[in-house]
Amino acid sequence: MLGPVILAASRSDRMRRLISAAPVTKQVVDRFIPGETVDEILPIVRELTDNGLELTMDVVGEDITTPEQAEAARDAYLELIDRLKPLGLGERAEMSVKLSMFGQALSGGHELALANVRPVVEAAAEIGTTVTLDAEDHTTLDSMFAIHEALRKDFPRTGCVIQAYLFRTEEDARRLAAAGSRVRLVKGAYKEPAEVAYQQKHEIDKAYVRILRTLMEGEGYPMIGSHDPRLIAIAQELARTAGRKLDEYEFQMLYGIRGDEHLRLAAEGHRMRVYTAYGTDWYGYFMRRLAEKPANLRFFARSMISR
Ligand code: FAD
Repeated sequence: MLGPVILAASRSDRMRRLISAAPVTKQVVDRFIPGETVDEILPIVRELTDNGLELTMDVVGEDITTPEQAEAARDAYLELIDRLKPLGLGERAEMSVKLSMFGQALSGGHELALANVRPVVEAAAEIGTTVTLDAEDHTTLDSMFAIHEALRKDFPRTGCVIQAYLFRTEEDARRLAAAGSRVRLVKGAYKEPAEVAYQQKHEIDKAYVRILRTLMEGEGYPMIGSHDPRLIAIAQELARTAGRKLDEYEFQMLYGIRGDEHLRLAAEGHRMRVYTAYGTDWYGYFMRRLAEKPANLRFFARSMISR
């Protein structure tokens, strides 16, 4: 019951101001967002790659309100890519971007977001890596898929995310399961109405398996974005029956969640990519992590009270 309430709060400016100014212990936010600057995040990049893990990196931020903020987002990613260059990690460190941070919701937003994200995709390609477009709420997805298609003309390894909770996703998956595509499948993290999305966990899980089967049997590169042990076991079985080798799909999990499982899957020879977020505008990302697991909220509340 708490999840939808927290998700509603994640889009509220008033709550953003209240929570961001609250004496939140750094420890709670750090669990999911382990740094505010590039200098703070680079040691984490080294630590994860030294442990045989790969990364997709997210400069936190979303729902910006001015074109200048969208340019600042672009520049933050360009700085990150520039700093990753000497590490020579190639696709072991890719980027995840939210188009709302690149201006998608502003007037003329589709074109603005494409114009701002293109230099990031170009810079990523120059250091031998790529970018994945995150999926935000359902109203943004037609624009996201169109931007994905436009970018893939010049940068075919640009990836995108699809969300199992949306009714539309089975059709999107059939379209995207084509040679050369890179598609991350997640359950979905936004508050969506019953007209467009499954509301029950068991329905979402069943849809996840149907969509994953489409991706595994297709010709693209499936990226399994989930911490759910049952879905991970099913993914391994689907990959086996589809005759995929270990380097023909990958698992992805969020930094700070089931870290032992990251290492276990990597030790088994799987490609395991950790979604690693950093930056100062952490509110929306942090609130979605609280909504996914109410126990996180209790921990958060306790840490505020015990100060
Ligand atoms: P769940 O059933 O929610 O969780 C399974 C188990 O994992 C839980 O029992 C718990 O042990 C653990 N767990 C899960 N979440 C948490 C948490 N927050 N804190 C502590 N433990 C937890 N969503 C989007 O809408 N768009 C995106 O672009 C997007 N990108 C993502 C990228 C990656 C790499 C991942 C892993 C997730 C992404 N998500 C995205 C979030 C996703 O939609 C889910 O909200 C999230 O992954 C939780 O679902 P689950 O599959 O892990 O299953």
